[in-house]
Amino acid sequence: MVTTIGDEIRLATNFRSKVIGVALKDRGSILPAGHSANAAYWYDVTTGNWITSTYYMNNLPKWVSDLNAKKLVNEYYEQGWNTTYPIASYTQSTSDEKDYENKPFGADQTKFPYSLKQFEGKNYQLIATTPFGNTMTLEMAKAALDNEQLGKGTETDMLCVSLSSTDYVGHSFGPNSIETEDTYLRLDKDLGAFISYLDEKVGVGQYTLFLSADHGVAHVPGFMKENKLPGGLFVESELIKTLNSKLKEVFLVDKAVSGILNYQIHLNHSAIDSANADEKAMAAWIVKYVQQNEAVSQVFSLKDIANTPLNTKMKDMLINGYYPTRSGDIQIVLKPGYIEAYGSGKAGTTHGLWAPYDAHIPCLFYGWGIKQGHTNKETYMTDIAATITALLHVQMPSGCIGKVVDEALK
Ligand SMILES: [Zn+2]
Repeated sequence: MVTTIGDEIRLATNFRSKVIGVALKDRGSILPAGHSANAAYWYDVTTGNWITSTYYMNNLPKWVSDLNAKKLVNEYYEQGWNTTYPIASYTQSTSDEKDYENKPFGADQTKFPYSLKQFEGKNYQLIATTPFGNTMTLEMAKAALDNEQLGKGTETDMLCVSLSSTDYVGHSFGPNSIETEDTYLRLDKDLGAFISYLDEKVGVGQYTLFLSADHGVAHVPGFMKENKLPGGLFVESELIKTLNSKLKEVFLVDKAVSGILNYQIHLNHSAIDSANADEKAMAAWIVKYVQQNEAVSQVFSLKDIANTPLNTKMKDMLINGYYPTRSGDIQIVLKPGYIEAYGSGKAGTTHGLWAPYDAHIPCLFYGWGIKQGHTNKETYMTDIAATITALLHVQMPSGCIGKVVDEALK
């Protein structure tokens, strides 16, 4: 609905700037690059190739086809995944083989080293759940930078890269796993190599790099329990079933709840309307019922948020995330440490919570125009667009609500 930094750079240079997105996930590539991007490339799990859309072009550039022909994914599968350092040196994680970790590579593969050879030509998706998904993405980003001559012209170009394997590995094994520690150690090396590549191709001090994340993550509830810390599971799928059978009894509406997404209950408005049921009364009934769930801290109708006693931080965040035609009707706030049941339900973890462990994310600026230092002042992901556009002297994106992080700029 709104412009991106890339769109604003394109507008400011009458579309002479080049903007390109690269990510394993389609959305991770398309959304940061923007509406007017020259291209967005993502990874097709059915073929193991980098692809794009006819929205941008009708044929892949030769350099993309050439890179696809190398089928790098098979090389990573060939190698398998072992820790990059001796496993005993992984002091920031719990021991391997915990039963609250998922087993994405098969029930028989419960610990390092993981064999991946068997997935060659059969399963191109699983590379995402290894650190090599990031390595592969940065290889593609390097190819884009080089072949599209980004940073070589007179205008500012932008390369947007999303590194999703940290997310896949984190969801599967949890933040305290050796798998996650190894993924970050390898990402650090990969980013180092990528920065050296930028120095060589674009020039030291000739580019600005910023890095952030879309979320932190909750610890796996099994890990929390093991260590006497508060936490647990909230099973959404069961709640939908129970709510729908109870609402049918009380309000005579079939399938009154259409779903629960991101801790919001979506009501089936057409079913409620055609049954002539009282939606307000139904919402009040749901609130009362869900409040009894042991995982739930607070539940309320989103339309009633102004009259709901919430801490101001939470209130601001929930209101910022509200959009009438897309948001749900009833908001569920879980107790800290609780998450919706993810995957099999007992293993792995997820996000979507207001709490610091989930909402606190890194924000790094580096290179041209950036002052060395750090700040503990509270800044937000929405401040990045304001800061980068101020640095470039271009307009802020059309939905920008952030403020310039002045401490970062020379
Ligand atoms: Zn995620």
